[in-house]
Amino acid sequence: MGYVYIVSFGGVEDRILLADAVNVKDIFELEARVSTVKADLIYAYTPERGQYHAGTILNYLSRIVYPDMVRLIALVGFDLYEEGLNFVFGEAQYGGKYAVVSTYRLKHSNEKVFFERVFKETNHELGHTFGLKHCEDPQCVMSFSNSIDDVDRKSRDFCPKCRRKLDYVLSYYR
Ligand SMILES: [Zn+2]
Ligand SMILES: [Zn+2]
Repeated sequence: MGYVYIVSFGGVEDRILLADAVNVKDIFELEARVSTVKADLIYAYTPERGQYHAGTILNYLSRIVYPDMVRLIALVGFDLYEEGLNFVFGEAQYGGKYAVVSTYRLKHSNEKVFFERVFKETNHELGHTFGLKHCEDPQCVMSFSNSIDDVDRKSRDFCPKCRRKLDYVLSYYR
């Protein structure tokens, strides 16, 4: 047994982190812990783009290790990009331990919608860390999101096919 750590570097409300912890527990049936980490991420910032480089953030995250950690996902308030892409909602180490989600493009005047989007992207990126690839089912949380409409279209849960794969991997941690 261990925990999914949901960390922030500040700039993201505690309420979102706590709600996301409940979401992770619901969907993955793993205990989640919330933690705020002090970090200077300025070297991940690309001034010409006004965005942070997601891969650099992931590299930074991999220096944070908790002994009882199953996975670690960071929620950040700033915009992320990856080479060749205008932006990314998040990024994960495929089959690894670390993931990051940006709340920057998920904002909505209705907080319920905003939180739901954060849950979806969290579950999507955590899905990658558990070895899941993109799914063709548009309802499945593992379907690829190119736009905020794609995020809104999908559910926060896994389709039966992805769920089976996930449960197989998760049985090791439960
Ligand atoms: Zn993905
Ligand atoms: Zn699926």
